[in-house]
Amino acid sequence: MKNDNGLVNLRRKKLKSKKIQSKGGLLNLRYSPSEIDKKVKAIYSKILSYSKNLDSGNFKSFSTDDLRHLFELYDRYFFNNFFTKNYGDTIFFRLSNRMTRASGKTTYWKNNKTYEICLSTVLMFQSFGDVRRKIKVSGIVCHDRIEAVMRVLEHEIIHLVERVLFETSSCFKPQFKQFSRNVFNHSDVTHQLVSHYERADKIFDLRVGDRVSFIHNGEMYIGLLTRITKRATVMVAAPDGPLVDSNGKRYSKYYVPLPLLKQVKRQPV
Ligand SMILES: [Zn+2]
Repeated sequence: MKNDNGLVNLRRKKLKSKKIQSKGGLLNLRYSPSEIDKKVKAIYSKILSYSKNLDSGNFKSFSTDDLRHLFELYDRYFFNNFFTKNYGDTIFFRLSNRMTRASGKTTYWKNNKTYEICLSTVLMFQSFGDVRRKIKVSGIVCHDRIEAVMRVLEHEIIHLVERVLFETSSCFKPQFKQFSRNVFNHSDVTHQLVSHYERADKIFDLRVGDRVSFIHNGEMYIGLLTRITKRATVMVAAPDGPLVDSNGKRYSKYYVPLPLLKQVKRQPV
């Protein structure tokens, strides 16, 4: 019995130490800029040739399978399949068309020990479209959508590493910044992808606070532009409207596609 127990304990100890060792190895991972460059170029050409959706650097459609596949390539090239081997069935992927500010999000659910990496398709597809300017993600200039998605995913993978190691993660802390520099040569933790607000401003000359007009059921309405997402939120004064402001004035709310709005220029006094 003693021996058996000893053997079991030894096995447990071995397994435990092996896992800690590999986790420790994860934190000490470091690649030179030229190694990183080679790896990301290989991943770029692989995802472009494998995926049915990605027909060019500025693809028109992207699926969760593409995201999963991209992650698996990163796991193979950068982490020696650490995640697939140890966390394969606990990491999930999602795309969001509601994330309008954050380009990605990594979540850890403690109760069932699962992880989720979610990327914003809003920012993905609004960038490298009709708003033309230089776009940096994680401090690196991106030349097309695939490069931008890769930089965002790299940032989220660093969050995943921290979640796996410490359960919590913060990209504002020195450890994250150091690790993202060591593994992916990132020099920043922010993105400059094109937001709804920027596109509304540059393409349609519309900003929150503008007085705007639009046609609805053959009638023209004039109201205040209060929010911009995929559509604009316009508050129109209406005596029997369901919404009331702090002055007791009543409004109706309309969701209007941006191309259908016209800015109402203020008349000079
Ligand atoms: Zn972050």
